[in-house]
Amino acid sequence: MSITPLMPVYPRCGVRPVRGEHCHLIGEDGTRYLDFASGIAVNLLGHSHAGLIGAIQSQAATLMHVSNLYGSPQGEKLAQWLVDTTFGDTVFFTNSGAEAVEAAIKTARAYHQNGAGGDKNRFELITFHNAFHGRTMATISASNQEKMHHGFSPLLAGFKYAPFNDLEAARALIGPNTAGFLVEPIQGEGGIRPASMEFMQGLRKLADELDLMLVLDEVQCGVARTGKLYAYEHYGIEPDILATAKGIGGGFPLGACIATEKAARGMTFGTHGSTYGGNPLAMAAGTAVMEAVANDEFLNAVAEKGERLRARLEQFIGNYPELFELVRGKGLMLGIRMKMESRPFYVHLRDNHQLLTVAAGDNTIRIIPPLVIGEPEIDEFFDKLSAGAASFKVPEAA
Ligand SMILES: *Cc1c(COP(=O)(O)O)cnc(C)c1O
Repeated sequence: MSITPLMPVYPRCGVRPVRGEHCHLIGEDGTRYLDFASGIAVNLLGHSHAGLIGAIQSQAATLMHVSNLYGSPQGEKLAQWLVDTTFGDTVFFTNSGAEAVEAAIKTARAYHQNGAGGDKNRFELITFHNAFHGRTMATISASNQEKMHHGFSPLLAGFKYAPFNDLEAARALIGPNTAGFLVEPIQGEGGIRPASMEFMQGLRKLADELDLMLVLDEVQCGVARTGKLYAYEHYGIEPDILATAKGIGGGFPLGACIATEKAARGMTFGTHGSTYGGNPLAMAAGTAVMEAVANDEFLNAVAEKGERLRARLEQFIGNYPELFELVRGKGLMLGIRMKMESRPFYVHLRDNHQLLTVAAGDNTIRIIPPLVIGEPEIDEFFDKLSAGAASFKVPEAA
């Protein structure tokens, strides 16, 4: 037998974390890493936040799981937080980002199909090149990235792909089957690429004119990451449906599909469900995260740290014009676009300088630290990044 007990779908590296301390990870062999990856934009309160740990511990000792057949005081509390602080009127809780996007896709289809005069032909969502929406069959089908499709045919029908930030191309794909748009306000895996103002506002306008659903995937850019609770707030628009996950549990598996009352009109009794979704333990984690981040003081601090980090990054890349092209992103969701494939540099930072970042598409290195970083972590980050850039040997082209 040569297959590993962990199904070998991830090419796992030599970093083997066994403990977290604030913004650092400690490996099995004692190596200490500065974590500017946050479990891919998940651990927004770092690894040892007393409030989050306390909330999980006390809820675990009180009540972990009950069925969604029962009333949920814990779920009502977190849903109310989200309703009070976002565009939404109603929330469906999930255990992951892909499930949140699935729920959002179903909500958009049901808006058109499930109701008086429902139109069964309105099922198509227009999505965008290099998007990432998850790894379930519906969510891989929603992305044009063929590397995620290979081996999994047939895909789910009902997605059309337009170039990101190209409003005219999106408009040209609209037809009698169109149900709406599904878009990340800032593409994460695609390389920290923000949607333009005209694009987001144009999609909103088209959706309003044609009675289409504007569905945002804020699984990576949501929950205070960009210095706003949700990234749509930067664009002066509101979606009809939004998928959130990653940061919302602070490390506990949790996601949600948030919708307006109008958008959720098709999601009636029995149309959707989840055994674990919204369990009391997840609700305790999500509530602790909201209590920490959903206030102006925290959000302004994220925006301010983001600006400082970005200014220093821009200055830094000027020292290495042969390596780096530009810095982009919002708040503490930043990307450095390299002039070559970004993976070797990311590996070099990780293995030789104990700095964890994340490689992304479009030759980009993702800088997505815990939102609780302070000046010492930012200084340590630049020490490691500078040393890493100075010692980096660009691999010979194959
Ligand atoms: C990570 C991610 C997902 C999928 O979330 P999972 O929790 O891995 O299922 C979906 N959309 C975006 C934008 C993401 O970054």
